[in-house]
Amino acid sequence: MTGAFTVAIDGPAAAGKGTIARAVAAEFGLAHLDTGLLYRAVGARVLAGDEAVAAARGLDPATLEDADLRSQAVAEAASRVAVIPEVRDALVSFQRAFARRAGGAVLDGRDIGTVICPEAEVKLYVTASAEARAERRWRELCDRGQDADRDTVLDEVRARDARDAGRATAPLRPAEGAVIVDTSAMSIAEAVAAALAAVRQAKRRG
Ligand code: C5P
Repeated sequence: MTGAFTVAIDGPAAAGKGTIARAVAAEFGLAHLDTGLLYRAVGARVLAGDEAVAAARGLDPATLEDADLRSQAVAEAASRVAVIPEVRDALVSFQRAFARRAGGAVLDGRDIGTVICPEAEVKLYVTASAEARAERRWRELCDRGQDADRDTVLDEVRARDARDAGRATAPLRPAEGAVIVDTSAMSIAEAVAAALAAVRQAKRRG
């Protein structure tokens, strides 16, 4: 397809994918899709009493309300619905069309480089130790004025990792050819710089 240039960014929760994806989109003028929001929207519907597969099939991606989907309860529900193959199937075509749109796109999630767009021009796997990610999540919650316990946050990070990496369908893992960006000991600026360098290199190659 002419004009399609896809940056696929995968990795576990709180590794810095979202920040990196937004920076890449801004730098190169690409559209951005946070695919976690799709699963969060389905998870939120399930918490409201809907059936998961029906919720996924009926989802209108144009109506995703970011602000309502950021809670820990919705994140948990998202990772539970994400193990259901029919839920994942229902969300594939929208993501594939977004990935290959003219003008280019950056998508971040868990299976973008492995399942949604293995032909992506750039694949990044953004990761960090569970401890580093839990520390960031905990600080974020404290900054928002929430009363969070460090050890509980670390347990939640580990539980979500285990579910995302251990599921049978589209488990979290680096795609073939992915550039690994380990942000454990990096500042945000360093992590963003590493990602931008990888995209620039791919653009030169292409
Ligand atoms: O990235 P975020 O934390 O918003 O994702 C919420 C959950 O949605 C993840 O824990 C994961 O289970 C699921 N997800 C997925 N595939 C994606 C994006 C998110 O399974 N591409």
